[in-house]
Amino acid sequence: MEREEYDTRPMSVDQLMDEASSKAQKIEEKLAATQEELAQTLEKLGKVERQLAKVRTTNCVEENEKLRQSLAAANLNEHKKLIKLEKCLESLQTISECTICTSRYTTTGPQVPRVLASCGHTFCTECVNKIGKNVHNQIKCPTYQKFSSANSPKNITIIQALVPTVYRLLEGDNDLVLE
Ligand SMILES: [Zn+2]
Ligand SMILES: [Zn+2]
Repeated sequence: MEREEYDTRPMSVDQLMDEASSKAQKIEEKLAATQEELAQTLEKLGKVERQLAKVRTTNCVEENEKLRQSLAAANLNEHKKLIKLEKCLESLQTISECTICTSRYTTTGPQVPRVLASCGHTFCTECVNKIGKNVHNQIKCPTYQKFSSANSPKNITIIQALVPTVYRLLEGDNDLVLE
């Protein structure tokens, strides 16, 4: 039972009860509607969160895979470089040794590399001196049996470049060679 605004007569207990119950019902209806809305919003939010999680997981897996592949490629590349360097060092090591006595060449002393003039082979001074001279003051190369002058010049290339570099690479210390 509605009461007009301008009606100033005091309300009966029944009227007060009616009004209160009507207000309470309206509030309850509003509350129910709000709860329903909230439930729908929460459901939507849950859906969005699940989608987001899925996207995150997918991206993460893809990113990880990309990263793994690029790391593997980088590792392979470094590994190949290392093998090349090892081969390079191996061949430098071979060239830095006298093939007769296997001593390493030095910049001074009996292991100074000497090149045979006719064939171009290089041996240490000690080994060249051990080869017997013929009557023409010639020595026979032990590799290809070719005759060269016994006065073999120093192999300057090995002395200047190879010996210091190879020794530094092999031992990390060139004090033994560079006197
Ligand atoms: Zn030698
Ligand atoms: Zn030779």
